[in-house]
Amino acid sequence: MLEVTELEKTYDTGDRALKSVSFEVSGNEIVAIIGPSGAGKSTLIRSINRLTEPTGGSITLDGKELTDLGQSELRNARRDMGMIFQEFNLVERLTVMENILSGRLGYLSTWDAFRRNFPPEDISRAREILSRVNLDGVENNRADELSGGQRQRVGIARAVIQRPKILLADEPTSALDPETSREVMNLLTDIAHEDDIPVIINIHEVDLAIEHADRIIGLSNGEVVFNGSADKLDEEA
Ligand code: ADP
Ligand code: ADP
Repeated sequence: MLEVTELEKTYDTGDRALKSVSFEVSGNEIVAIIGPSGAGKSTLIRSINRLTEPTGGSITLDGKELTDLGQSELRNARRDMGMIFQEFNLVERLTVMENILSGRLGYLSTWDAFRRNFPPEDISRAREILSRVNLDGVENNRADELSGGQRQRVGIARAVIQRPKILLADEPTSALDPETSREVMNLLTDIAHEDDIPVIINIHEVDLAIEHADRIIGLSNGEVVFNGSADKLDEEA
C-alpha cells in the first residue's frame, strides 16, 4: 500500500506545487490523477519515485518511508516502483529484449546491459511478459523500429519485469493516438487487476480516466479537490 500524507513541494523558484496532499492507494487499484496543466500531477509522481525531493510530509510504500532514504536505499526502493514515461524512455539502439532486461537489472549503464550475458531465467521471463503485452515476434527489433504503441508496451514490460510493488505512469498516453491510448490503458488495467499491483497514472484525458480508472484523484493548484470513483466525478461535473 502507498500512503501519501500531507505531502508538500515548494520549488526553489517559490512555486508551491503540492499543498498538503494526502491519499492512499492499495491492492489492485488503478488510480488516475487528473487536473489542469500546472496542477502538480507530474510533481506528485516524481515525488513518489523521488525524481524530485518533496519539501514536507511523508510517503510510505508498504510501511517503508520513502522521503528520507539515502542513495543506496533509494536505488532499492526504486526497484519496487515500475516507472512508465510519456516519451517511453527506451534506449533507441538497443533491441526490445535488451531494453526490457536493462530495466530488470535496474540501473546498469546501457553499455553494461549491452555486454551482459543475461541469465536464461530472465530471458524466459522477458518472453512471457512480451507475450502478455502483445509484442511476440519483435524481441530482436531495435526500439527505433517500433510504433508508438509498441514502444509504450515495451516501457510497460520493462517496468513489470522487475516485479514492482507499484506502477507509476506519468502521462503514458499523451504521445499516442486515441485508439492506442485506449489499448495502453486496458493493458495497465489488466496488470493492476490480475497482478494485484496498484497503478497510479497521470493523465490529462478525463474521458480515458473515467473509462478505465477504479478511482480518480483530482488535483488543482497543488491540492486534492476530488478523490472518489469515476461515477461520483460524473455526478459532480
Ligand atoms: P502538471 O503535471 O499537473 O502539469 P507540474 O507538477 O508539472 O504540473 O507543475 C506544478 C507547478 O510546479 C507549476 O506551477 C509548475 O510551473 C511548477 N514546476 C514544475 N516543475 C518545476 C521546476 N522544476 N521548477 C520550478 N517550478 C516547477
Ligand atoms: P540515469 O541515466 O538518469 O541514471 P536511470 O539509470 O535512472 O537513468 O534509468 C535508466 C533507464 O531506465 C532510463 O531509460 C529510465 O527511463 C529507465 N528507468 C528508470 N527508472 C525506472 C523504473 N523505476 N522502472 C522502469 N524503468 C526505469
